[in-house]
Amino acid sequence: MADHDTNVRPYASIERRSKTKPPAREVALLLNELRGVPYDAPSLLESLALRDIGWRLVVVYCRISNDRHRRDGHGVQDQAKHCARIATQHRMIVVHRYVDNDRSASKLGVKRPEFDAMLDALKLGTTPAGFPIDGVVCVSDDRLYRDVHTYEKFLKCFIAHPSRVYADGVGSYDLYSEEAAQRGLLGAVAARAESKKQAHRATLNHRARAERGEPVAVRRPFGWNADLLTLHPGESEVVRRGVQSFLEGKTLTAVTQNFVASGFTSSLGNPWQRQTVKQILRNPRICGYRKLNGTLILGTDGKPVVGQWQPIVSPAEWQLAAESLERKRHPGGWQRNGAAPGEGPTYLLTGLVRCGRTLIGGQQCGASLCGYPTSDSYLYRCRTALDGGCGRISRQGPAVDDLIAQYALAALDRQAMLDARSAIPWPDAQRLETATHQKAALQEQWYAAEISDSDYFSQLRQRETEIKRLVNEQQAWFIRNRPGAHRQAGEQARWDGLSVIEKRGILFALLESVIILPGTKGSHRFEPSTVIPVWRTQPTNSAL
Ligand SMILES: [Zn+2]
Repeated sequence: MADHDTNVRPYASIERRSKTKPPAREVALLLNELRGVPYDAPSLLESLALRDIGWRLVVVYCRISNDRHRRDGHGVQDQAKHCARIATQHRMIVVHRYVDNDRSASKLGVKRPEFDAMLDALKLGTTPAGFPIDGVVCVSDDRLYRDVHTYEKFLKCFIAHPSRVYADGVGSYDLYSEEAAQRGLLGAVAARAESKKQAHRATLNHRARAERGEPVAVRRPFGWNADLLTLHPGESEVVRRGVQSFLEGKTLTAVTQNFVASGFTSSLGNPWQRQTVKQILRNPRICGYRKLNGTLILGTDGKPVVGQWQPIVSPAEWQLAAESLERKRHPGGWQRNGAAPGEGPTYLLTGLVRCGRTLIGGQQCGASLCGYPTSDSYLYRCRTALDGGCGRISRQGPAVDDLIAQYALAALDRQAMLDARSAIPWPDAQRLETATHQKAALQEQWYAAEISDSDYFSQLRQRETEIKRLVNEQQAWFIRNRPGAHRQAGEQARWDGLSVIEKRGILFALLESVIILPGTKGSHRFEPSTVIPVWRTQPTNSAL
């Protein structure tokens, strides 16, 4: 990002003085660099693994405004940065940026190719690089649409898939609600103008307090008393010992088990999970520092601001622990999710297969199943309770993969058949139409009493026989000419020839998830009925 600044700033400062526009080429270059997958985005594999533990993969939309200010491309770069901050606040990962330049087409009516590309991706469910889309981030919704029609178009594509989140500088919104569907642009702008001002003031206040070293936690952090300042003796000791044993080489799992054994729950009253413990160990609060939007708050001297609360460990200890956790995240990480370092994913369905076991409360476990190698094959298995699963379901990996591949091929085949039906017309369509018209004309004649009953019924029988024959012929023709009939074997071979990443791209586009239900107790036979594909959009039935 820094080098963009140095590239463009000279033009920007000239513009402010002399109103000289920056060369269009410079702006175009800058926009191009901002477009697509951000350079610091995690790989598809890492993103999917992060998605498994609750992160959402989102796309960002930026637009150079036609405002009097910021015509130089800086505006859009700031937007991208701001969007990244918004994403972090909402536990989101930016996997694609769509950037439009309104200026280039302002006179001829506004064209926004990137906006349209984003709508297509939202409709499809995945970005061009194959990332599933869980939401959209934007600095403010007036970047996205300026009229009701565009808003409705956006909304339709956005809600084409369930459980997405929309966030902007003000907050995150449920666009599936009735209110969202009904609100027009004008209403939205009026309603949100005031809340934007308030939110902006709140942000400033938040940062100012953090810079003064005042605690800004919304709820009591684990380890401290309700005053947010003094240490809770028991809890802080658990954290201190946790950091120490982690630095002595204990695994995060072992440290989490110690948290569990302490008898304390998290400050929200939840049982401990590795993820929660990891967040505590990585949080600079434990050494008196504070991060806002991912960076340490620094004082005017450039050193971290030391908070007014009592620290649990020294800054050096926190830094070592946090760095070690960061390292574990990247190279060499994610084996438990099936990704070996530097290779493609080992398991076809990681990220899609979920546990369908019913828990005591009645709801489904729902945890993402991990691939585990066995001596001769592999399994999909529910995570342990420490990782947010029930640990009670496992299923033969190859059998599940094969079954889902068959389902997917059948779905693609149905799709191809429908496409072919609209592409290759049935040669006798005209005859069927004529016969249908003749029947209708005959009925009208009879209603108008122009023909006798006996003539009508004998002719009607003839017409109906003809129509029925043609319809049968049409159906047979479609079945004979359906691409799947010839290509079945070829499709299977093509599928087998794809890489795991390519296969995963197809499966993620087709499927929302694959639910694995418990099998018959004591049986080791694979039961296909316990594997439930959940389609992104219901595959169309071949209704002839
Ligand atoms: Zn489970």
